Amino acid sequence: MRTDEPRPVRLQDYRPPDWLVDTVELDVSLAPSATRVRASLLLKPNPQAAAPAPLLLDGDDLTLVALSLDGEPLAPEHYVATPNSLTIAQPPQRPFRLDIETLVDPSANTQLSGLYRSGKTYCTQCEAEGFRRITYFPDRPDVMAVYTTRIEADITDAPVLLANGNLVDSGTVPGGNRHFAVWHDPFPKPSYLFALVGGTLAFVEDRFRTMSGRDVTLRIYVEPGKEDRCGYAMDSLKRAMRWDEQAFGREYDLDVFMIVAVSDFNMGAMENKGLNIFNDKYILASAETATDTDYASIEAIVAHEYFHNWTGNRITCRDWFQLCLKEGLTVFRDQEFTSDQRSRAVERIKDVRGLRATQFVEDAGPLAHPVRPTQYREINNFYTTTVYEKGAEVVRMLQVLLGPQQFRAGMDLYFARHDGEAATIEQFVQCFADASGRDLTQFMLWYAQSGTPEIVATGTFDARSKTYRLDMAQTLPPTPGQPTKEPMVIPLAFGLVGSDGRDLPVRLADGAPIERGLITLDKPAATYLFTGIENRPVPSLNRGFSAPVRLTVNVGEEELRFLAIHDCDPFNRWQAVHTLAMRLLVESTTAIRRGEPPREDPALVAALAAVLKSRDLEPDFVAQVIALPSEADIAREIASNVDPDAVLAARQALRRTITASLSEPLITIFERLSSPEPYSPDADAAGRRALKNACLDLLMGTGDSVAVARARRQYERADNMTDRMAALQALALCDSAERTAALDDFYRRYAGDPLIVDKWLSLQAAIPEPATLDRVKALTAHPAFSMANPNRVRALIGAFATSNQTQSNRADGRGYDFIVETVLAIDPKNPQLAARLLSALKSWRVLEPTRRALAQAALRRVAEAPSLSRDVGDIVERALAEG
Ligand SMILES: [Zn+2]
Repeated sequence: MRTDEPRPVRLQDYRPPDWLVDTVELDVSLAPSATRVRASLLLKPNPQAAAPAPLLLDGDDLTLVALSLDGEPLAPEHYVATPNSLTIAQPPQRPFRLDIETLVDPSANTQLSGLYRSGKTYCTQCEAEGFRRITYFPDRPDVMAVYTTRIEADITDAPVLLANGNLVDSGTVPGGNRHFAVWHDPFPKPSYLFALVGGTLAFVEDRFRTMSGRDVTLRIYVEPGKEDRCGYAMDSLKRAMRWDEQAFGREYDLDVFMIVAVSDFNMGAMENKGLNIFNDKYILASAETATDTDYASIEAIVAHEYFHNWTGNRITCRDWFQLCLKEGLTVFRDQEFTSDQRSRAVERIKDVRGLRATQFVEDAGPLAHPVRPTQYREINNFYTTTVYEKGAEVVRMLQVLLGPQQFRAGMDLYFARHDGEAATIEQFVQCFADASGRDLTQFMLWYAQSGTPEIVATGTFDARSKTYRLDMAQTLPPTPGQPTKEPMVIPLAFGLVGSDGRDLPVRLADGAPIERGLITLDKPAATYLFTGIENRPVPSLNRGFSAPVRLTVNVGEEELRFLAIHDCDPFNRWQAVHTLAMRLLVESTTAIRRGEPPREDPALVAALAAVLKSRDLEPDFVAQVIALPSEADIAREIASNVDPDAVLAARQALRRTITASLSEPLITIFERLSSPEPYSPDADAAGRRALKNACLDLLMGTGDSVAVARARRQYERADNMTDRMAALQALALCDSAERTAALDDFYRRYAGDPLIVDKWLSLQAAIPEPATLDRVKALTAHPAFSMANPNRVRALIGAFATSNQTQSNRADGRGYDFIVETVLAIDPKNPQLAARLLSALKSWRVLEPTRRALAQAALRRVAEAPSLSRDVGDIVERALAEG
């Protein structure tokens, strides 16, 4: 437990480090509860900093055993060592060598930060501040050093010993049962990218020849017996390596690239140089155990961590405020990779759905912060969707504004100019300004101002003058710490669609050029007058979601139906249907709260029918179009005084309408796509399954016995996890004997596989019915569940808190009570996990008054609990803060 009073760290207080580290030699002698770490640092005064300066090294829960300077033991009066720091007040003002010996206890490390054990495997997680839990060090990303790591361990306890870089030596230790391995990483890196692993691990191996002809060994290490589930991850890795060469000219730089999959991990994966460590859920896959969504996640995350080798590792962040420099950019890169590997349109729709579901919600609540925050108390709480996903959108906007060639030139300049450095956002954006000759000063506001810009666009057609006028205005709502805002640069891809469904040629009355179908709004308001327009067009704005904004346009239901069928931009075709459905669902929710019947909209049903009938659309795209807005989507749109029960009722009413009106085409498609074909995880086959299962889901709208039997049949006959899971999900929506039987059967089949049991836990936690809370509580006592494993906690309690809108927000407040009790129980052992779980309550202010008061009271109980971690204390304080 941390006892230090949290003091905010501020961007404006950044100073270069007083001391630099040239080389780090680590000698780690692994033992379950007493691992000895000898660190030998070559330190030198930083010429950029003020001298003379004391040497202040970070620690966290460390025990110092010995300390010497240039080979001489340091007398106790010359230093102060506490568990959290090591200070030498008057070090020599010249280069010197510091040898530090510490003792750490990996078995007792339940925070999963620093050196810990996952099962019997030793592994590390050093981002953001875990290295200081291994040895005293200037643990900040702008101190980059060359590391050599010697690991020693009992040969039966840890036959495999891995660290960053290339293996340079290994052997047995004379006189005993121990062995060692020495790894050397020639590339200077910050301490957060350090990693070591020791344990009993099997591996699969492959090779990759880089574009300059260098041979690289690729290895994926897993628990013995799971080697046959690594094939897709390995294939994804090779495709990612090739793609990064082709799309960005980036080549891999070491002789070996290793991935280790472990089962106890706080995050998805970690990009340690040459030695990525993964949550095994993002490595292991087979047709019988993984869904298409799992396969897609594995592909994206393996690629993401690999891409960090250049965007994050070779060029790292100067400080943690610049986290989006590596994360936003790398998410952009993995999204582009997926777009090239799969369907660009579908990837864009999925990414935007995700952005709106998480980031827009964060932006609208008390935890809103800029893509580059200016202060933090606990950096672990800033690994957020704003930094990652909105950060990616900001990079994408650079590409939209500059065009693909100038964007690539800017990236090339960035790699050339900053390789080997710890850089800032200013330096990154400057590369695009230099490469394009454009002034990007105003664009920097995307990194500085939080909140989602709102744009209102009004189109007016004048038949007499044959003109079309587009009036646009932007506002950026106040967010915590930012009451007033400046106008943003908003690139909007657009078209004016003529009555034949084709885009009209666009010409501005003032003769200003329109580049790449883009208008860029950079003032609070602007008017665009288009000439030569014969007939009233339908505006299609923010095509491809070119800017992450909320957009309101004065188009009616019939025009949206028209766009759904005719827009040449697939994203906006999807968006048109989504907008139709959203308008209807919001109106229905209001009606239901007034005691009136839910609304109906023939234009929506007609648009869905047209999309289902169209033969030239790819199946995965159709699946996206017919997937209704989620309850969370609807709540976000309503934005205040939300009653989750009314939202659910509105959505269920629309599902019933669709089932009743469109059952014929839905059944036809379902049956056409149900013909047996051997399972393949490729995008086309996955897309066909996605459409088939979207039909299955909609056909459950009325919950009649034919639909239940259909799902039951698919469940039993499925030869892959995607179809079996989709059928189970459909069955889970109706309280029936079939559901109970299928849930029991599913557990019996997969009880031995924790990653599949996680799916079973999540599915039950998400059932929107009053019995779910008690079911979830009972499952916490199930032998398959463990509070100590982050994957289990996220699967059961995380799913309940984030994806079950009605039951986590129960009107009696018991959902909140359960969430905060769990947070308080986990916090002493794993503060990062507890803080993540608590942040599920961040949208409490949008709820109707009864639930709002109950959620606030629950948050206050957390705030008043004794000895909170810094992680949870920070979240709860910001969640409750006024204004
Ligand atoms: Zn990342």
